[in-house]
Amino acid sequence: MADPDFDVLILGAGSGGYACALRAAQLGLKVGLVEKGNLGGTCLHVGCIPTKALLHAAEVADQTRESGQFGVRATLEGVDMAGVNAYKDGVVSRLFKGLTGLIKGRGITVIEGAGRLTGPREVTVDGTAYTGTHVVLASGSYSKSLPDLEIDGERVITSEQALRLDRVPASVVVLGGGVIGCEFASVWRSFGAEVTIVEALPRLLAAEDEASSKALERAFRKRKIAFRTGTSFRSVKTTDASVAVTVEGADGEQSVIEAELLLVAVGRGPVTEGLGYDEQGVAMDRGFVLADERCRTNLDGVYAVGDIVPGLQLAHRGFQQGILVAEDIAGLDPTPIDEAGIPRVTYSHPEVASVGLDEAQARTTYGDDGVETVTYDLGGNGKSQILKTQGFVKLVRRKDGPVVGVHLVGDRVGELIGEAQLIYNWEAYADDVAPLVHAHPTQNEALGEAHLALAGKPLHAHS
Ligand SMILES: Cc1cc2nc3c(=O)[nH]c(=O)nc-3n(C[C@H](O)[C@H](O)[C@H](O)COP(=O)(O)OP(=O)(O)OC[C@H]3O[C@@H](n4cnc5c(N)ncnc54)[C@H](O)[C@@H]3O)c2cc1C
Repeated sequence: MADPDFDVLILGAGSGGYACALRAAQLGLKVGLVEKGNLGGTCLHVGCIPTKALLHAAEVADQTRESGQFGVRATLEGVDMAGVNAYKDGVVSRLFKGLTGLIKGRGITVIEGAGRLTGPREVTVDGTAYTGTHVVLASGSYSKSLPDLEIDGERVITSEQALRLDRVPASVVVLGGGVIGCEFASVWRSFGAEVTIVEALPRLLAAEDEASSKALERAFRKRKIAFRTGTSFRSVKTTDASVAVTVEGADGEQSVIEAELLLVAVGRGPVTEGLGYDEQGVAMDRGFVLADERCRTNLDGVYAVGDIVPGLQLAHRGFQQGILVAEDIAGLDPTPIDEAGIPRVTYSHPEVASVGLDEAQARTTYGDDGVETVTYDLGGNGKSQILKTQGFVKLVRRKDGPVVGVHLVGDRVGELIGEAQLIYNWEAYADDVAPLVHAHPTQNEALGEAHLALAGKPLHAHS
């Protein structure tokens, strides 16, 4: 048999695929990277980066509108979506240029076109078969819809079309109160739209600690973002100018919400259909590719990373998996990833961030008597007062043991998750963290204060 074309052949150049390519090339491996769209995938082009640019523009609008509370007289004259989009697209294109240069600079062969797994170690693109000693499946995810809910791209849209809107809609129904739904609801409200979120589960951000969900709900209520939890979508009627969305509450009562647009944000499904994975015998579950803690599939030499693998669909999980796979292939024996140790951030106004177990999960794991929590209110934190943001730091620890979960709510708290992640991943005890000196005035101090309280010696909080 002829020598394979590549040491590592990667199908998909999103966060998982390109991180694997960059690290593998750095380790001296010969890498082929198949991509049918743009290098960088969802996160760079239609995910993390453009949404966070919109959220930043939204923050600027809020700050302008609320400037009077800082004694600054400024008036928000309006939001020019052409200008907002130019800013957002500029950020994406600069990062895209940088990534393209990196990939080229590391000598990675980019194969443009749609690939298909045609053998256990073979990917075919436009009739040409490429082989790899190792193959990495990294084909990512797509916006799901519900049965009988057709995305027309005009009135009924997904996050991709929402990112391309050339206007601020007067009103929107957001179907799904998860991360993506809450972030878009937050942006549009800041830009002046009437927003209603419809969520089938009992609370917004249902994957977060209940206290975080409740705090976000309170903040959204104050911002006049309407939401209906425990409410299911039933049907939608569209006209040229509007949508009429019928929903059903937990009590079985149906009602109709009218708006200019319906955003469908009910989760993301794996892009695996028709790619030859199942024909080649890759073990799968409901379209997702099953992989072990080293991202190995059941087929020898075939790995899977990113959103196609069950678990948190986050770019930084994909990056880390990609790096791990490259190092595994190079024989470096990398440490497997602890899913609970992956930080989660929702970049709404206010932000919600967490790492580790929430209180309910900790109680299930360690028993009611085996868990302690402490909540430090940002009201006692100088920097949060300066920023005029409200929220908290909540710590969950094993009784007499390490901190097993950190939960944060408040503007900009996403930036604190790095320290929280270290605390969780190093299995720190309150007594280890309490003596650390935090710069003053920063929001990081709130993490220190919470640990002082947990260690039984609160400083800027009541004993
Ligand atoms: C609106 C939105 C906001 C988000 N915000 C955040 C955030 O703030 N932080 C965060 O961590 N995550 C965020 N995410 C999630 C993040 O974007 C994904 O977790 C990440 O992109 C997954 O990386 P991936 O490599 O698995 O897949 P993708 O990034 O989807 O990349 C897969 C690539 O494979 C290519 N591909 C697919 N099939 C083929 C084929 N047959 N042949 C060739 N190429 C193929 C695709 O074109 C694509 O480029 C967000 C997602 C969305 C939609």
